[in-house]
Amino acid sequence: MNEKNKTNKEWKKILTEEEFQVLREKGTEQPFTGKYLHNKKNGIYLCAGCKNKLFSSTDKFDSGSGWPSFTQPFSNEKIEMKTDMSHGMTRTEVVCHRCGGHLGHVFNDGPAPTGLRFCINSISLFFEEKD
Ligand code: FE
Repeated sequence: MNEKNKTNKEWKKILTEEEFQVLREKGTEQPFTGKYLHNKKNGIYLCAGCKNKLFSSTDKFDSGSGWPSFTQPFSNEKIEMKTDMSHGMTRTEVVCHRCGGHLGHVFNDGPAPTGLRFCINSISLFFEEKD
């Protein structure tokens, strides 16, 4: 089934209340509370909604922002970027390309090699450890 056609009712059966609030309602977890903020293990971060491969541990860095941060996605076609004018700011929202789930935002103040900072909610992610 096309993940983008799932209704809120269907998502509520699959996701926890917290996951639904962030992934489907574009909520934001409180900074410095996310389960993956200090995760330094090797592996892949999947979408908590649809298990799409979103980010690699090799691109994770400590931004000090309080949210897991990455310099780039696993590959560009895994994500989508959208202009977000909410809360009186113009930001670039990052969503999962497969299910449309809200992941976080991307900013232009990241480190090399991309200069980008993908600021992502832990709640939107599911970590799969690799050796
Ligand atoms: Fe997804």
